Amino acid sequence: MVGVFQTPLQADDVKAKARELGCDLVGIADGKVMDAHPPDPADPRRPSDISDYDADRVIVLVKRLNAGTTRLTRWDERHKYYNDELTLTMLEEASLELVLWLEDNGYPALIVPPTHVDPWTYTGDPDAPLGTILSLTHAAVEAGLGTLGLNQQLLTREFGPRVIVSAVLCSVPVEPDNRIEEALCHGPSCGRCLMSCPGDVIGHWDRDWAACERYRSPHGFQAMVEHVERIIDEPDLQAKKDMLRSKDQFYLWQSILRGSGVVTGCRRCQDVCPVGDDYAGLRDAVDEIAEATDDKRTRLVEMQSAERAGDLPQSYTQAQRWIGTLPPSEE
Ligand code: SF4
Ligand code: SF4
Repeated sequence: MVGVFQTPLQADDVKAKARELGCDLVGIADGKVMDAHPPDPADPRRPSDISDYDADRVIVLVKRLNAGTTRLTRWDERHKYYNDELTLTMLEEASLELVLWLEDNGYPALIVPPTHVDPWTYTGDPDAPLGTILSLTHAAVEAGLGTLGLNQQLLTREFGPRVIVSAVLCSVPVEPDNRIEEALCHGPSCGRCLMSCPGDVIGHWDRDWAACERYRSPHGFQAMVEHVERIIDEPDLQAKKDMLRSKDQFYLWQSILRGSGVVTGCRRCQDVCPVGDDYAGLRDAVDEIAEATDDKRTRLVEMQSAERAGDLPQSYTQAQRWIGTLPPSEE
């Protein structure tokens, strides 16, 4: 766009506007730096893959999840899914408002929503999870908003992992933020995310994303395919009709209607994480972890021993840029 139509803007102007629109945290990443450091070089998903012209800056917007639902400790609480979906809707609306404001000031912009996947990457396998077109957790780290934790969830100083993230791409020439270099995560000596995980899908600075998807999106595409297959395979006509009126069918219908249980779902690992200024107000409800087992404890002890011996897994070394530098292990 021709410069004469552009209002000069500073990073603080953009951040103030995003906050005015209801965002709790805002950071700005350099699109070129993100292009040079894709989280997965085999599947790069860079800002420049989305826009040739308008991806010099990645403006990362964060909305906190409401504490009242974090204090509901069941992972499969539909009320929680619904509240989170409303938070997501608010963040998407704020993202669009920010785009329109940037464009009013002469800078074309576009949203990278937290739920949008590239349909061309679907392989016909409903069990294979699809990533967003840009990893927003990594973008948030590049924008100086936090670091990744033991299960590669985003941790912020203010709200720990209890956030939803969106991004706006725009070539507005404002100063980007710096990354936080030191890990916010307390590592396996904490391990509360691993302890609480209902699917036991968390590894050593890693997560089985396909297995997690069953919980993060309990009424999503995978669940719908399986439900329809069960109906098709049912030989008894009355039983087939009953399945149409079942609770499973109702949940799928409600989820398709609003997205709750599809784009929102399990967040037990986020709820119990002690990182974040907000944790003091949650502790009485989330301190005890019903899902803890001796087997999980044993694995965490083994991870601590490995780290003390200087033996960090490849999942850490590959993601060190975003996890950050770990403090020295205590004997
Ligand atoms: S979202 Fe749920 S299933 Fe996935 S890692 Fe977190 S606690 Fe485990
Ligand atoms: S719960 Fe503990 S180990 Fe897990 S991400 Fe948070 S600080 Fe790290």
